[in-house]
Amino acid sequence: MRFVKVAVPIKYYDTFTYRVPENMEIKKGSVVRVSFRNLHPIGVVVGEAEEFRNAKTIAEKILDLPEQLFKLGEWLSSYYLSPPGEVFSAILPPLLKRVEEPFHSKSTKFKISLNKEQKNAVELISPYIENKSHRVFLLFGVTGSGKTEIYLHLMKHAISMGKSVLYLLPEIGMVPQSLERVRERLGVGDEYHSKVTPGGRYSVWMNSLEGRVRVAVGARMGVFLPMKNLGFIVIDEEHDSSYRQTEKEPRYSARDTAVMRAMMENIPIILGSATPSIESFYNGKIGKYEIIRLKNRVADMKLPSVNVVGLKGKKILSDELKERIEKVSKKGKVIIYLNRRGYSPFIFCENCHYIAKCPYCDIPLTYHRKEGVFLCHHCGYRVKSFNKCPKCGGSLTLSSIGTERVEEELRETYGSAITRMDRDALKKRQEHEKVYLGLRDGEIRVLVGTQMVTKGFDFPDVKLVVVLKADNILNFPDFRASERTFQTLSQVAGRAGRGEKGEALIQTNLPEHYAIKFASRHDYEGFFDKEIEFRKRAGYPPFYRLGRIVLSSSEIRMVQKKAEQIEKELRKYRDIQVLGPSICPIKRVRGRYRYHILLKSKKIGSIQRALLPILKTKGDKVRTSIEIDPLDMM
Ligand code: ADP
Ligand code: ZN
Repeated sequence: MRFVKVAVPIKYYDTFTYRVPENMEIKKGSVVRVSFRNLHPIGVVVGEAEEFRNAKTIAEKILDLPEQLFKLGEWLSSYYLSPPGEVFSAILPPLLKRVEEPFHSKSTKFKISLNKEQKNAVELISPYIENKSHRVFLLFGVTGSGKTEIYLHLMKHAISMGKSVLYLLPEIGMVPQSLERVRERLGVGDEYHSKVTPGGRYSVWMNSLEGRVRVAVGARMGVFLPMKNLGFIVIDEEHDSSYRQTEKEPRYSARDTAVMRAMMENIPIILGSATPSIESFYNGKIGKYEIIRLKNRVADMKLPSVNVVGLKGKKILSDELKERIEKVSKKGKVIIYLNRRGYSPFIFCENCHYIAKCPYCDIPLTYHRKEGVFLCHHCGYRVKSFNKCPKCGGSLTLSSIGTERVEEELRETYGSAITRMDRDALKKRQEHEKVYLGLRDGEIRVLVGTQMVTKGFDFPDVKLVVVLKADNILNFPDFRASERTFQTLSQVAGRAGRGEKGEALIQTNLPEHYAIKFASRHDYEGFFDKEIEFRKRAGYPPFYRLGRIVLSSSEIRMVQKKAEQIEKELRKYRDIQVLGPSICPIKRVRGRYRYHILLKSKKIGSIQRALLPILKTKGDKVRTSIEIDPLDMM
């Protein structure tokens, strides 16, 4: 009689023992169906177990995970201290019948001859694909310097050797455009992300296991595809924080997981960015990664000229600015970026100083005019909008503006030629595609939106990019605030001037800030040198590693007590620094008060070791989540 440990998708850091039926071939990494508390979940066998009399029997074996992918799952669970069952559940697709056939088409035969810098990059990376050896390449080139062409070239090469490729992007919205380019050029390509139907995801997953997927284009969950004969991995826009899953287990970084996977599979990986993360560029400087620079934009494309405009006291969307947009939009496209959804992010009474706040999160509600609601951007709480102050009956005032208001103010002028791109306007995969096609075919001339518009769009005739207010990110109480600001401004400005010369306009209350100054000069390395000094002085990554514990409960006393208890435990460890506990910058979400504790150490292992015992106490009334290498400090 044989017994094995099975990881089933539950919140605990535990596995369960099951009996193996005779004649069933089971090994580490076998995917099985078991019965568990009246359910029949899919689990993964993680090892042998001692005899256990009351053990139930495995009901069905479904498939075997490739060994490498199983090992990646084990690593993920131990590195991020994430329950193994939840890790494997993230790796596996929704198991349904196969419904869709893989995409097949002929590739179009047009040829681009690479420039010198591009050729050099291809020559550096190719041998690692051919000889199957590991190296991390940091492809550092401004937007429009031809990074994607390099990927495509290498993909073609890998495919001709019978290898497959994983191509990851940080946002689902960027997938259609990249997939189109892959298919156009190579005649293959399958997409994989959370907005693909469960059936579609299942079939891509199975096809990749069986070696029928040549190039998978996906968002972060793509890192878990069981690609057969993987040649290399591309992580495009590697600096992007969307590679991090923060809201649920496993709380992992798909970029770092991909680097680990490439190491385990002994293959090269390319991290591409115009604004590499401070950590990655530092790794390049110390020789852990290999930096490949693309100094010039392809052909005749020029970097946009950037003007920084002080905002003090002025209207965000002034008449002067509107005129400017109108003038430019006659000749080319205009992209307007504002880091605020909704119509107005702040509603208050001038008479009694009442502010409309979320009753569960203690943050101001945002007015969404089209829906007629006041909405909480943290928990989704909504209430029908009202215009009289509930305290004194005075009339309410809207302060500041969001993307919905910008769109409305410009609609009179542009009609259907203006489109908004943010989480409210675009909910489905098809809607992203519509915007993309509208821009490509010229029906859309003015695009207004949040972060979504800053990423990846590649259109020749964007003549003007406007950042309505650059300060929102800068004011976050987060040591990465300057880095985020620099990245966002560089990315959004990079949308301009892909044909002829374009222009970017940055409005801000802090025109003297170094993140804004370096961004306006397109000077990444200048920014890096200044930022790395700060990180060193203050003891932040890459010089120190971080861990974070977030505790929450509807009763503030209970969170405080638990936080102090944990703090006391943690203080016993000499090799870590404990900061806090303190109340989180976002104090309350969904009625739960939030506290956090930050851990610092030279070695991540020290942090993991100190946190492991805390995992065992998870599950009481105070919710505890653990983040290794956290990105979000809110
Ligand atoms: P990035 O990924 O760095 O933003 P892309 O690879 O998308 O840059 O290149 C920008 C544009 O220049 C694309 O339209 C691409 O087709 C074109 N391009 C890239 N390399 C070349 C080349 N060697 N010759 C001509 N056009 C090129
Ligand atoms: Zn709320």
